Amino acid sequence: NGLIVSFGEMLIDFVPTVSGVSLAEAPGFLKAPGGAPANVAIAVARLGGKAAFVGKLGDDEFGHMLAGILKENGVRADGINFDQGARTALAFVTLRADGEREFMFYRNPSADMLLKPEELNLELIRSAKVFHYGSISLIVEPCRSAHLKAMEVAKDAGCLLSYDPNLRLPLWPSPEEARLQIKSIWDKADVIKVSDVELEFLTESDKIDDAAALSLWHPNLKLLLVTLGEHGSRYYTKNFHGSVEAYHVNTVDTTGAGDAFVGALLTKIVDDQTILEDEARLREVLKFANGCGAITTIKKGAIPALPTEADVLNLIKG
Ligand code: ATP
Repeated sequence: NGLIVSFGEMLIDFVPTVSGVSLAEAPGFLKAPGGAPANVAIAVARLGGKAAFVGKLGDDEFGHMLAGILKENGVRADGINFDQGARTALAFVTLRADGEREFMFYRNPSADMLLKPEELNLELIRSAKVFHYGSISLIVEPCRSAHLKAMEVAKDAGCLLSYDPNLRLPLWPSPEEARLQIKSIWDKADVIKVSDVELEFLTESDKIDDAAALSLWHPNLKLLLVTLGEHGSRYYTKNFHGSVEAYHVNTVDTTGAGDAFVGALLTKIVDDQTILEDEARLREVLKFANGCGAITTIKKGAIPALPTEADVLNLIKG
């Protein structure tokens, strides 16, 4: 199996012990390890793929706890650095009664933002077949430079570049800056996955149709995906496009569904990129990825909910 390297942030979400309350009203919080790139790495490993995470954590109890979680889940941790000064990032997250997610981040700055280009494990990145990343690591220096260097090294080594912007507006100085920076690395990626919300944000329109998606196309792109939660996903390539339905499940928490979807897709294409040119085979892979996303919504939290290959195949057969 080819190696999938996932680059970016890993942090702890603190989630209220009861649902439907504001952060101020929450009587207590539970730790939920996360960070989209770390979730993707664990999603890959749980499906039986080879994964590594590259990023920086605080040299504190939480940082070592997160590194331990990666290792326990079979993710290579030799691309992780520990910062001696800054703490591991924390986020307090709640799903309020009105359905809106409320975030409060503790990153002032956190260790993940302080990864330096010279700290990158370049050998690890060069040994990857797929290099996956988001956009949170673009927000501030020196992590931004580390991100750009890692991408360049991966590209030069012949990796497939996979990009899930994972918009977190409260972390950016302004929406305009977020849009500009997210798009600044757009044409480097071979595979891009956006959610419906990100599609609206990036195209500055309220339409989630083919025209909107295709306005995000770039000439070197191999696959563009739009995920639509319970409405499944859409795919666009140079030669064909279409949609794949979602599975009906009892959803309790959608956190990590997008990361599970990406992890599944990458696991299936890492050793055979000709799938991207074959619509029938790509649709099979996207059914699998939709199934992987769906199962992740059945349980609370992202990492505990990520399925094995057998779990996904059971859902698909059932
Ligand atoms: P997140 O930011 O919550 O990780 P996302 O917005 O990036 O997720 P989604 O569109 O929510 O991504 O989910 C990815 C895929 O997972 C969807 O395309 C779909 O196949 C599946 N999925 C997500 N939510 C549901 C749901 N409620 N029921 C069934 N399948 C779902």
